[in-house]
Amino acid sequence: MTHSQSIPPLVPAATPQWSAQDSASLYGVGDWGADYFNVDDAGRLRVQVPGQEISVPIVDLVEAMQLRGLEMPVVLRIENLLDHRISEINTAFQRAIDSSGYNNHYRGVFPIKVNQQCHVIEEIADFGQRYHHGLEAGSKAELIIAMSQLRDYDSLIICNGYKDREFVELGLYARQIGIQCFFVLETRSELDIVIECSKRLGIDPLIGTRIRLASMVEGHWNEDSGDRSIFGLSTDSLISVIETLKQHEMLHCLQLLHCHLGSQIPNIRNIRSGVLEACRFYAGMVAEGAPMGFLDVGGGLAVDYQGLRSNETHSMNYGLDEYCINIIETLQESLDAEGIPHPVLVSESGRALVAYSSMLLFNVLDVRDHRPGQLPATLDDDAHDLIVNLHSVLDNVHVDNLQECYNDAIYYRDELREMFHRGMASLRERALAENYALGIFERVAALLPEARRVSPELSDLPVMLADIYYGNFSLFQSLPDIWAIDQLFPIMPIHRLDEKPERQAVIADITCDCDGKIDRFSYLGDTHSTLPLHPLVESSEYYLGVFLVGAYQETLGDLHNLFGDTTVVSVHIEPDGSFEFVREFHGDSIADVLSYVEYEPKNVLEQFRKVAERAVRDGRINVEERQNMLRAFRDSLNGYTYFER
Ligand SMILES: *Cc1c(COP(=O)(O)O)cnc(C)c1O
Repeated sequence: MTHSQSIPPLVPAATPQWSAQDSASLYGVGDWGADYFNVDDAGRLRVQVPGQEISVPIVDLVEAMQLRGLEMPVVLRIENLLDHRISEINTAFQRAIDSSGYNNHYRGVFPIKVNQQCHVIEEIADFGQRYHHGLEAGSKAELIIAMSQLRDYDSLIICNGYKDREFVELGLYARQIGIQCFFVLETRSELDIVIECSKRLGIDPLIGTRIRLASMVEGHWNEDSGDRSIFGLSTDSLISVIETLKQHEMLHCLQLLHCHLGSQIPNIRNIRSGVLEACRFYAGMVAEGAPMGFLDVGGGLAVDYQGLRSNETHSMNYGLDEYCINIIETLQESLDAEGIPHPVLVSESGRALVAYSSMLLFNVLDVRDHRPGQLPATLDDDAHDLIVNLHSVLDNVHVDNLQECYNDAIYYRDELREMFHRGMASLRERALAENYALGIFERVAALLPEARRVSPELSDLPVMLADIYYGNFSLFQSLPDIWAIDQLFPIMPIHRLDEKPERQAVIADITCDCDGKIDRFSYLGDTHSTLPLHPLVESSEYYLGVFLVGAYQETLGDLHNLFGDTTVVSVHIEPDGSFEFVREFHGDSIADVLSYVEYEPKNVLEQFRKVAERAVRDGRINVEERQNMLRAFRDSLNGYTYFER
């Protein structure tokens, strides 16, 4: 993984005019946003429905939420974008099939684990029906979701993961109803359960095998592939599966081969070599007499979070069409050579299907900057010697003596701190010394871009001086991958983009945890430790958005500091540019999160009532005060866990 951290680029030099389009290029909207986002001349980020020439400013959606009592932070889903992704993936495979003369069709399945939220799955099942897009289940709970949601019998249900008797029986009932539900064997021992259950119930199963490929992939999830992968059958176990099926006269049930190289595969060459190896297994299974007919290439289609079009971990060096053509052509070339009929191609793209449709929106509650306080123009005659020295250093900062001034500032400031410890400098003198040091750092930092040589110490200065923007969200709840795996997501303001973002910032959440911060950002083609943002304006909100968060973030999140689920809003944009709030879910209340950790909110209230009642008896508060307190306590229990204005 690359952790390049360079000096924050100065936002293109102080041009008197800064246009909204300058912001669009700074934040890379056109690079990571596919065609789903753009910036208008009024400086608002708009979400755009491709092919329909309609778009809506995201701040308008925020305003509409406020009118409906939906508070920040909010996960906003744009249904049109999810629909568009489903269409894109299905039509791209269809184009590849048509252009190469591949002799079978494509069937997508969405892995439920990537976003299990009910309305996401309902939308995929509903809109996806026109493409027979199915679902992938990795547990009993997910199979239950899949069986209840799919109504189209041309769609597939693919069951991965370890399966017990109950799991297998559920899947067999799906078979009996007419659903094409495949059991993909992850281990040899699952086969005995499948055989036993299907004989007992008299239902023929559809069986697939997940194979362990030797092909390795780059990127973060490379452990899903290769010899040491914990998933899939070894070649020897595969032979044993085939033998056992033959013994039970069930080889006709073996119809699918499954491989999953890993998630977010940035390099197309890895995909091609993995699929090639899978084809060899497929051909081998056909030669063993299995009917086959389905080849499932798993997930792995990446999302270009950085918009770099490169093989960096959070990027990808290929496009959707290239992905589809590579897979289709590899299958075709390799199977034609053996005279094997083309299978139905199945893929399990999760990330690439849902990432775009969701964004996390939050307001900024406060900013802590490191700007020096007021510095006197001239010093009193009795000023402390060290302060006199600091004052003259500040006056002398020049592009040729940056390091020297920096060293002096630290030296004199620390000397004064030392005097303060020993009672030889006052509180006010210490404050003044700290201010001078900051003033010097600020001047040094401003001249760094002009300096010929910059020491590592000095190049860290802009980060040290960066503002801290406190965002009303919990990283652990809403963006767990930033914390867990250093994921990069596009982050930017959703308004004021016609103003130049003059501040350099890191973003802290409200969990009071030192890990609850964002200090790696991707823009202008590189990774930076700070993000250019606008100064807050008195009495008006400043909104930031984190984009492409539809995959994996929502259910991996945890209750750190008891910040609960955020409010979720699903919006559908209509052809006339108006919008409808199709779904809204209020986030967890404090009572909700307390009950998750086994408190009974009623008892909590009752205990507090007793405390308040005792205070009345002891004469510390009167009855009316008791009532007000209880009301506030009850309101808080029912309120949002996040900061409310
Ligand atoms: C997680 C997973 C997927 C989804 O992968 P994406 O990279 O999100 O498309 C698909 N198949 C299996 C077996 C998985 O475990």
